[in-house]
Amino acid sequence: MTKTLAVNAGSSSMKWQMYEMPEEKVLAKGLIERIGLKDSIVTVKFGEEKEERVFDIPNHTEAVEVLLEDLKRLKIVEEFTEITGVGHRVVAGGEIFQKSTVVTPEVLQQVKDLSALAPLHNPANAAGIEAFLNLLPDATSVVVFDTAFHTTMPEKAFRYPLPKKYYTDYAVRKYGAHGTSHMYVSQEAAKLLGKPIEETKIITAHIGNGASITAVKGGESVDTSMGFTPLAGVMMGTRTGEMDPSVFPYLIENDSELKDAQDVVDMMNKESGLYGVSGISSDMRDIIAAKDTDADAKLAFEMYVDRIQKFIGQYLAVLNGADALVFTAGIGENSVPVREAILSGLTWFGIEVDPEKNVFGVEGEISKPSSRLKVFVIPTDEELVIARDVEALKK
Ligand code: AMP
Repeated sequence: MTKTLAVNAGSSSMKWQMYEMPEEKVLAKGLIERIGLKDSIVTVKFGEEKEERVFDIPNHTEAVEVLLEDLKRLKIVEEFTEITGVGHRVVAGGEIFQKSTVVTPEVLQQVKDLSALAPLHNPANAAGIEAFLNLLPDATSVVVFDTAFHTTMPEKAFRYPLPKKYYTDYAVRKYGAHGTSHMYVSQEAAKLLGKPIEETKIITAHIGNGASITAVKGGESVDTSMGFTPLAGVMMGTRTGEMDPSVFPYLIENDSELKDAQDVVDMMNKESGLYGVSGISSDMRDIIAAKDTDADAKLAFEMYVDRIQKFIGQYLAVLNGADALVFTAGIGENSVPVREAILSGLTWFGIEVDPEKNVFGVEGEISKPSSRLKVFVIPTDEELVIARDVEALKK
C-alpha cells in the first residue's frame, strides 16, 4: 500500500489528488489557485473536511512546499517517504511520447522543448515537475501526456494538407489533447455498452473550459478536433476553435492593436470563444443565465452548440456510424441545456433522448432504450488515469 499524487499544474494553478494505491482510494484532493498573484487560494478536501486559506504564493516551488506541509499538518501523510509516486499531466508530448514515461533530466528537457505545441500549458507542467523533483527526489515521477492517446490516429487524419516539408522538417501536424479523458470515458462507455472495447465505435465529447471531440474506434483514437495546439476544433470558453488562417494577416494589417501573428493567436486563445462573442463571460453558466435577454449571449450559445454538432456529424462519418456518444467535463457533465440543444439537432442519426434521464447530476445513459445511438454522461477522471500509470511504472 503506497501513496501516489496526481498533479495537474497550470500557469497559475495546481490541482492535485492523492491516492492510496493499488486500491485507487482517494485520500485527499486540493487546488492551489492564483500562484504568482496576490491572495493565492489554497483548498484541501479530505474525507468530509474542507479547508480554504488565502495568502501569497509566489511560484510553483512554494506551491508544492505548501501542499506537502498541508499533507503533514492535516495528517494525510506522516512521512513524505510514504509518497512513492507523483504523476504529472503534460499537455503536449509531440510525436516523441506515445505513452506515459518516467521523468529523467532528458525527459524534462523534452517537455520544455515541446512548449511551442502547448504554449499555455507545457511550461507550467514543467515548473510543477521541477518543484516535485526538488522536494520529493526519491518518489518516482511520471509524465502522462494529453496527446499520447491520439498517437494512434492514422496519417490521413493527423496530417494537414500542407507541403510535406512542413510535416517532415517542422513536425506540423494534428496532435490533439485531453487524451487521458477521452481514453477513460471511452473505456467506461464500452463497459456501459456491455461490449469488448475492440468492437465499439464511440464519439467522446470532452466539453469544459477547453473542449475537444474524439472519434474512438476499437478503443483507439482515430480522429480528434484539437490540432497542432489546443486552439483548434470546436469553439471554447475563450478559444475560437477552427478559423480561416487568412484572417491573421488581414487583422494585423487592419487593427493597430494586433502587431504580429502572436498577438492574433493570443487574442484567439484568450479573448474569443464564448467570452469574445458574448462580451459577458467564458463560463457557460453565465451565458445560459443571460441568453434569454441578451442577443450576443444567445448567439454565443448557438454558435457553441453548432460547432459541437458539426464535429459529431464529422465523426459519425469518420466512424461510419457509432454505438455511443459520451458527454464529459464541466459543461458535458453538468449542463442539461447544452446537451439538450446539441442532441435536439441530431435526431436524424437515431438519437432519442430520455428527458427524464437528461437531468442535472445524472451519470450513465440519458437516451431511451430504443435509441440507435446511445448517449452517456460519464464524469471524467484524468487523475485516476495518471495514478494508474504511475503505479504501472513505479520502481
Ligand atoms: P472544466 O474545464 O471541465 O473544469 O469545465 C469548466 C466549465 O464547466 C466552466 O467554465 C463552466 O462553463 C462549465 N460548467 C460547470 N458547471 C456547469 C453547469 N452546471 N452548467 C453549465 N456549465 C457548467
